[in-house]
Amino acid sequence: APLFAICGRPNVGKSTLFNRLTGTRRSIVGDEPGITRDRIYGEVDWEGRVLRIVDTGGVIPDDEALIPREIFRQAQIALEEAEAIVQVVDGRSELTLPDIDLARLLIRSGKPVFLAVNKMDTAQIAPQAESFRTLGYKDVFPVSGEHGLGMGDLMDAVAAALPQTEPEEAEELEEVWEDEATDEEAPRERKLRSHGEHVSKETSIAIIGRPNVGKSTLLNALTGSGRAIVSPIAGTTRDAVDETVERNGHSFRFVDTAGIRRKGKTTLMAEKLSVIMARKHLEAADVALLVIDATEGVTGLDANIGGYAHESGRSVVIVVNKWDAVTTNREDGQAPADQKVYTEQVRHALKYLDYAPLIFISARDGINVDEVFKKVQLVARERRKRISTGQMNKFLDHVEFEKAGVPYNKRLRIYYMTQAAVAPPTFILFTDRDVKLHFSYERFLENQIRAQWRFIGSPIWFKVRARN
Ligand code: GDP
Repeated sequence: APLFAICGRPNVGKSTLFNRLTGTRRSIVGDEPGITRDRIYGEVDWEGRVLRIVDTGGVIPDDEALIPREIFRQAQIALEEAEAIVQVVDGRSELTLPDIDLARLLIRSGKPVFLAVNKMDTAQIAPQAESFRTLGYKDVFPVSGEHGLGMGDLMDAVAAALPQTEPEEAEELEEVWEDEATDEEAPRERKLRSHGEHVSKETSIAIIGRPNVGKSTLLNALTGSGRAIVSPIAGTTRDAVDETVERNGHSFRFVDTAGIRRKGKTTLMAEKLSVIMARKHLEAADVALLVIDATEGVTGLDANIGGYAHESGRSVVIVVNKWDAVTTNREDGQAPADQKVYTEQVRHALKYLDYAPLIFISARDGINVDEVFKKVQLVARERRKRISTGQMNKFLDHVEFEKAGVPYNKRLRIYYMTQAAVAPPTFILFTDRDVKLHFSYERFLENQIRAQWRFIGSPIWFKVRARN
């Protein structure tokens, strides 16, 4: 479906507008760290058409020096990805330099661009919107995201500027939603299609693990090996920062690096903090590096943190660190560890993460650190893979469900299935009965899917939808 973007500096009401248009709360308003940093995608149903919308996000930092870059970044996302662009300004405040800079960049692009003057809550003040024409826009729309005013005119103009959905894509959509046309649930499923789909050449990474496994040493090794850009996270204290490293033409953004380096005062505090940090960092990441201390093996706390990673839907790479310490002159006099044996032990302790690649490194000595980047890039690509409904159903024809070992009364018929979302890959099974997917089915199906398409490093999610 065609995509349009909304851009604008913070506090002009972009998120409210986004939520109003999509009917969801995907773009969360507020100052929780990291929430609107990345672009957010949604869908707008407009007069029977499905249009995709991206909120280019981007919180403009307090730091004056960083403003131009952030403006540029937003504009770049919009220009690269979208086929029409709406700039949002606050109708109740003066224009600012960022507004003007952004307008200039967008208008110059030659794409269809529109200005939404937001917070125009009453008809009387709507004419004020005209004064914003100085920005250079031909099409100016007074709107109120909060009260839903002026949406129709704006969306009419946007929709008219967007190309019609490509026939092939339309067919695929129809194929999936045809039978659901009268089903109230259909719109929800349609939203599912866009869930988590923030396309990027940038991968955000959470380094997680219990205290002293070597997270900050690893972070230093990773960021020390390339050009690191440090950028503050909006809504947090100054010391909360992300660091981005460019490598192999790919951006690797390590989330909340100050948090990774932060140490708890007592062991117990540090342990609790490590779980809280892991959960928080997972929220903001595409990929998690689960760091294990080779000298100690997988502990209960490791398994616990690994469990959160698995449930979060993020992709995981298991990083066994301090490998140097178990292969050479061990202080405890034990025989040097063997990678194969060690792998088996880790796999056994972290069964649910069997899809995650496992690597051995020494962060301190910089051994195999390069491999971390490669694995991150690999799993980041894998989690965004999309299997067409056609391919999926050809595959389904050959799955021998009798072999799944599901008790007779738990069996169900799968008519067809479709990948509803990427990141993580999410499949909807259209079945004859509305029952929870038996775990043996799920396991079996997951294994079959992985045998065919792998999805290295990513969990796979299933949803069941009874057809009648
Ligand atoms: P964090 O709490 O997970 O961030 O762990 P740190 O990065 O602070 O590391 C904890 C301790 O492990 C420090 O004394 C590091 O020097 C040590 N360490 C980290 N990585 C390695 C490694 O690859 N090999 C060895 N032998 N020690 C390491």
